[in-house]
Amino acid sequence: MSRYDLIIVGAGIVGAACAANAACEGLSVALVEPGPIGGGATAAAMGHLVAMDDDPAELALSAYSLKLWERYAHLEDAEFSRCGTLWVARNPRELETVPAKIARLAAAGLTAERVDAEQLYQFEPALVPGLAGGMRVPGEAVVYPPRMARHLVDQAIEAGARLYAGRRVAELVDRGVRLDNGERLTGPVLMATGVELPQLLPELPLRPRKGHLAITDRYPGLVHHQLLSLDYADSAHGDADTSVAFNVQPRPTGQILIGSSRQFNVSDREINLPLLRQMLQQAVAFLPVLRELQVIRVWTGLRPATPDGRPYLGPVPGRREVWVAAGHEGLGVTTALGTARLIVDGLLGRTPEIDPAPYLPDRAITGKAA
Ligand SMILES: Cc1cc2nc3c(=O)[nH]c(=O)nc-3n(C[C@H](O)[C@H](O)[C@H](O)COP(=O)(O)OP(=O)(O)OC[C@H]3O[C@@H](n4cnc5c(N)ncnc54)[C@H](O)[C@@H]3O)c2cc1C
Repeated sequence: MSRYDLIIVGAGIVGAACAANAACEGLSVALVEPGPIGGGATAAAMGHLVAMDDDPAELALSAYSLKLWERYAHLEDAEFSRCGTLWVARNPRELETVPAKIARLAAAGLTAERVDAEQLYQFEPALVPGLAGGMRVPGEAVVYPPRMARHLVDQAIEAGARLYAGRRVAELVDRGVRLDNGERLTGPVLMATGVELPQLLPELPLRPRKGHLAITDRYPGLVHHQLLSLDYADSAHGDADTSVAFNVQPRPTGQILIGSSRQFNVSDREINLPLLRQMLQQAVAFLPVLRELQVIRVWTGLRPATPDGRPYLGPVPGRREVWVAAGHEGLGVTTALGTARLIVDGLLGRTPEIDPAPYLPDRAITGKAA
């Protein structure tokens, strides 16, 4: 029997960040992962580090996390690239939403600027003619998420954490876990199992929200910013069962990553060709040049979605010494670092830098979640 200060279940980017943070604070950490590090939703993600401003709690966590990401801004192996985000307005009505967005981001400590149509085409000449302008957030960036998860796990191991690679937690037991080989680990448990959370914590509602992505061959210099349409949040946070939105990213390799779709009530990993076509048509409508490029790979992933779109971060009511950090839906790469700080501050009894209340899992159990 092995005793730890913290047993972390799952080494996606969230578990990896929590492991690095806890181990660097001097806690003895066990990290259990049956598959590749960052091989779940983390490997499927775009890796856009972005503040979403339509929910105050999500904005607080993403803005806090973006500041913590600065520590990794020079990390070449995680392909950190500060390309900035350019939100694109199709018409004057969408452009009118920009000042309020800029004000909300500014209140969270983030700099954004209004872009008129002329500036828009100076920044991104390949965009379709006739757009109204947009909003630029110059400090935002992209990373390669599975590599970042690996980096955080290495950091944790260097600080003394033990990785149980190839092992799955089969059961939560009193004050610990039982692994699939029968081994028992003792100590407080942190569930960071992403979309698989309900298998061991069925009391916390969570469902998959499937997404498709496509990546092209290398075309350096064609696109400079992460590009999104200003109606992107309607797709990201709307309740529609199926939606697509314009979301294109320049990878440091020169490849162009094209997203994105959202689908509830589907948990297979199959490519849905009609939906993929719809997603690519949406991208081509904003960036006609994409039609001439070679797409070399298409994949899907499952975002872990809670009913109110906020992650569960904190102790699980009714369970002794079981914590959770899961349900980050489409923003978990961005918010992994803030998540780790909130969790470790909570475990150590410290006052966190942002209010942890909106993310506490008791909202779901007491039925407060939307
Ligand atoms: C198409 C798509 C695009 C996205 N784009 C972005 C983006 O641009 N920016 C952004 O911020 N976010 C993005 N996301 C969201 C992001 O990928 C997720 O929010 C994030 O990866 C969740 O991380 P996680 O560690 O919670 O889950 P995961 O990465 O899924 O990790 C969970 C881990 O737990 C392990 N596990 C499960 N059960 C057990 C068990 N019983 N025992 C031990 N281990 C277990 C799994 O093997 C897995 O490795 C995107 C997601 C998708 C699908």
